[in-house]
Amino acid sequence: MTSARTKLRMVERLRAQGIQDDAVLAAMFAVPRHLFVDEALASRAYDDVSLPINFNQTISQPYIVARMIEILRNGRQLNKVLEIGTGCGYQAAVLAHVADSVYSVERIEPLHLRAKKQLSELQIHNVTLRYADGCAGLPEVAPFDGIIMAAAAPTLLPALRAQLAIGGRMVLPVGMNEQHLYLIERDVNGYRETKLEAVKFVPLLMGKA
Ligand code: SAH
Repeated sequence: MTSARTKLRMVERLRAQGIQDDAVLAAMFAVPRHLFVDEALASRAYDDVSLPINFNQTISQPYIVARMIEILRNGRQLNKVLEIGTGCGYQAAVLAHVADSVYSVERIEPLHLRAKKQLSELQIHNVTLRYADGCAGLPEVAPFDGIIMAAAAPTLLPALRAQLAIGGRMVLPVGMNEQHLYLIERDVNGYRETKLEAVKFVPLLMGKA
């Protein structure tokens, strides 16, 4: 149910769904997703579904996690990455396999604390978790090679993209009822925005809970 074979099946499904980056597929294989959900849901942990993690939040479906990290990575090893919306810490754990260091911010304290415990139990040491409103990013740690948002923003968040390094990429869901994934690339001349596929995320909320 939570064996290597189940994980391999998930990875094969991701490949069939179009994920091509071997580093991302290896990271998805390496992280035990069942440990990030309630025991009662563990049997569904490797299905391609989002699942509840309490406080009205969800763990993102494996495909969207893999897809966003594939876009973020664009085939290169990432140095410093920022995630907004730690949730249970699953995506941060996957990012830890493809980036030198990961910073992840969560506004709901019990989720932040649970993710912290889970990542330390898995001995993932290159992820720094913060309990804060992620809307402001982490200016004291910027610039980042990559910024990834796990909650849908109403706009493209110009303040956050200023924390991208030159050559950096940001992947975020944007919209209220109708949401789309956006890629923002920063180069010496400025920012380029690309609208990607339709998605469904929980909303980005202001302030600490
Ligand atoms: N990354 C998670 C998905 C979490 S769901 C995964 O691996 O599956 C999105 C998370 O974003 C929720 O936990 C929610 O509380 C958080 N969130 C929403 N608005 C936020 C904000 N302004 N700052 C930080 N976290 C926020």
